[in-house]
Amino acid sequence: PDLREMLLGRIKDVPDHPKPGVMFKDITPLLADAEAFSALTGALAELCVRYRADKVVGLEARGFILAAPVAVRAGLGFVPVRKAGKLPGATLGQSYDLEYGTAEIEIHADALAPGDRVMVIDDVLATGGTAEASLQLIRRAGGEIAGLAVLLELGFLDGRGKLAAELRDAPLEAL
Ligand code: IMP
Repeated sequence: PDLREMLLGRIKDVPDHPKPGVMFKDITPLLADAEAFSALTGALAELCVRYRADKVVGLEARGFILAAPVAVRAGLGFVPVRKAGKLPGATLGQSYDLEYGTAEIEIHADALAPGDRVMVIDDVLATGGTAEASLQLIRRAGGEIAGLAVLLELGFLDGRGKLAAELRDAPLEAL
């Protein structure tokens, strides 16, 4: 409960970003606070231990900021899931629907060993489209889903419901 209050108190609501009608959750004040950032990455690292993860996957771009220190704290390797066209090696890609149009994310085809248990980390779970595509991509790359962990879940968008089938039995933790 203390952690939750500390984190929520350092996330700022920014109206009409990136477009009118959207209330953007800005996590930069939390990142700038040493105590809160450390508490957050520590709690995420504990989840990696609890769910016996072998690798930490971060989702571009804000997921990287969290997942990299979590990987170091948990003693695990970090693997990026990037927007299409950024990774230099052979990749697997997964496209998904946005409100208008589609997006595509990629992972290096050899980034995971068969059966690697992966903790997937992002900052915000909104509609769940990004996370759903990431889980599909990680499984296609040979990984198993140890869990999906986010700082903040926007409950009113029901990303959790959208993700239920793709999560299978894996936990979704929102701090
Ligand atoms: P989704 O695919 O709709 O669940 O959107 C999740 C992705 O969009 C995540 O990678 C987030 O970083 C980003 N996102 C959506 N809404 C917000 C927000 O209010 N603040 C920060 N990031 C957001």
